[in-house]
Amino acid sequence: MDRFTEELEPGYFQGFAVDRVILDEKTDLQHLVIFENRLFGRIMALDGIIQTTEKDEFIYHEMIAHVPLMSHAAPRRVLIVGGGDGGTLREVLRHPDVEHVVQVEIDAGVIDTCRRYFPNHSQGAFDNPRAEIIIDDGFDYVATSDQRFDVIITDSTDAVGPGAVLFSRDYYAGCRRCLADGGVLVTQNGVAFLQMYEVRPSAQYFSELFQDAHFYGAAVPTYVGGIMLFGWATDDMALRTVSIDTLRQRYSTRQLVTRYYTPDLHCGAFALPQYVIDGIRH
Ligand code: SAM
Repeated sequence: MDRFTEELEPGYFQGFAVDRVILDEKTDLQHLVIFENRLFGRIMALDGIIQTTEKDEFIYHEMIAHVPLMSHAAPRRVLIVGGGDGGTLREVLRHPDVEHVVQVEIDAGVIDTCRRYFPNHSQGAFDNPRAEIIIDDGFDYVATSDQRFDVIITDSTDAVGPGAVLFSRDYYAGCRRCLADGGVLVTQNGVAFLQMYEVRPSAQYFSELFQDAHFYGAAVPTYVGGIMLFGWATDDMALRTVSIDTLRQRYSTRQLVTRYYTPDLHCGAFALPQYVIDGIRH
């Protein structure tokens, strides 16, 4: 293999030079490929879809973790669904208020492989005593768990394969059931320009189930095609409009060190292009 090509949509491709294949194997559930690219470092793909790269993973992981955690005054209990590479867990654990994180990942093979080949993603987070790792389907977990969380983060694959259920109305209803009062759900929701067919149903379900249903964006180079969206769903209307001064105060008190996230960017990320606003209108 000298080139890895992902067909993002029929007729639209993204390609990387494969400088070295590191792993190409079937886990119990997914086809996992890791290769080296001169620009992005190590890259992981699941079922032919790029999941993460060493070079730009910080953008995605900081934005999926810090926006909800910084919006919450005291996030003590966090649930991560998916996120087998460990990058989101690493960022969540940066918040000193967080006492317990449950991570429910369906594929133990992804965690094992990423611990070994992407050590900078998790940076020891899987062994942190505040983290509890459960190998299970996130859909089943939120349908049955009696645990309650201040923040739930769906760090999923796209809406195909095992990740498809994490875009369903029943899954979002399960998340709502598992949120503590004043809690918030955020989700990986794809690239708006290309995947509005995935964004629209999520927007519909969020608005049926939650008082405040919205999205925020970030530019992640490997998720090409324009800004990617994170879903935002909560019954606490105040969380989305926490003031910049409060965010700056929390950033300083929690002693966060980030490379993409800033309090200013946090506020700006909720401003959406008109084509997205039109696309999610119901
Ligand atoms: N940043 C990535 C992206 O946008 O493509 C997501 C990366 S993370 C590796 C996605 C994880 O979700 C994978 O480890 C996959 O095994 C996990 N996953 C998929 N479906 C799941 C489910 N139903 N329950 C729990 N985890 C799931």
